[in-house]
Amino acid sequence: MKQPSRIGIVNDEDFASKNAPPYPHPIFLSYESPLRIKSIINFLTKQKIFINERIVKLEPVTVEDSILNLAHTKYHIDTIRNFSNRGYGLLNDEIFITKDTYNLAKKAVGGTIQAIRSVVENDVNQSIALVRPPGHHALQESASGLCIFNNIANSIIYMRKKLGYHKKIAIVDIDAHLGDGIVQYFYDDPNVLYFSVHEFDFVEGDIGFIDELGEGEGIGKNINFPIPLNISDAEFFEFMDLLEPILIEFNPELIIIAAGFDLYFADPIGNGMLTSITYYKFTEKLLTLAENICEGKLAFILEGGYSLIGLPHCIYAVIKALLREDYESPLFEQLDFPYESKREDIYKIKKSLRILLTEYWSSLGSK
Ligand SMILES: [Zn+2]
Repeated sequence: MKQPSRIGIVNDEDFASKNAPPYPHPIFLSYESPLRIKSIINFLTKQKIFINERIVKLEPVTVEDSILNLAHTKYHIDTIRNFSNRGYGLLNDEIFITKDTYNLAKKAVGGTIQAIRSVVENDVNQSIALVRPPGHHALQESASGLCIFNNIANSIIYMRKKLGYHKKIAIVDIDAHLGDGIVQYFYDDPNVLYFSVHEFDFVEGDIGFIDELGEGEGIGKNINFPIPLNISDAEFFEFMDLLEPILIEFNPELIIIAAGFDLYFADPIGNGMLTSITYYKFTEKLLTLAENICEGKLAFILEGGYSLIGLPHCIYAVIKALLREDYESPLFEQLDFPYESKREDIYKIKKSLRILLTEYWSSLGSK
């Protein structure tokens, strides 16, 4: 008989206590705070997740500068370290630095490496890294959009260069925003498929469109599925019609989820109208796909998601889906907002994207 799956959760007290924004609201509006992780851990503890025998607690691996250096310029690493050593302040309009930023951002890379490595090495079947600051915007040469170091890119490069892992990896990014940092690393890489679902980026503005398909050997493997604002639970899954056949055709050994939860209806940054049941269903669907493609190897890496009330429910929903247990949404999510269908817009996007992708994916060709 098949063994019940084991799910690793990367969790470290520092993520729940360090690197709080250095200035109060409304002087400086940042939602990237230790309370994000604190609220998740408190809720999961109340739900008895950590005493479940199928849940395995994972510790971040220690990350030295030499590991950061695999993915980032020395200048960027030095800037963050020196700024952190000096105390606190603003790196730009969005990004704050405290005395803990450098060490915590390194630990976020270490937590992500651990989550991915544990799945690859079969210590657990799936994993979730409850790390912060997030990483998917961070570029090789600079911090960007709340992200200091690129947790996922750094981990993949670490896996390749330090552990000799050169297999195909798919990244599915469901954060409200395009992970432009991840794009920068793997735009010409034929062994990393990046599929992002995101809103128009109101900060960067000119990125994340459907015709950004990758380049060189990586052409066709950078896939942007932009979605309209205020997307609902009912309409979120349209992208799966493209993602499913592409994932099956790409046939990766591992699927990493850039797990942002800022399309949640109560998120202060994103504009989506999703509730936690959608993250539950998304995880169910992806788990079934992964079981057919890559022995269920999934690693969820926390990116955005800033509703202190909603985020714990979203993470809990993901865990319940991975456990293959039932999940019930909290009552406060059943708000029944007035709602205007976005289906026509989504169909247009899906149709146009499908036409562009048929050149690279034969599984899309017949439709
Ligand atoms: Zn985001």
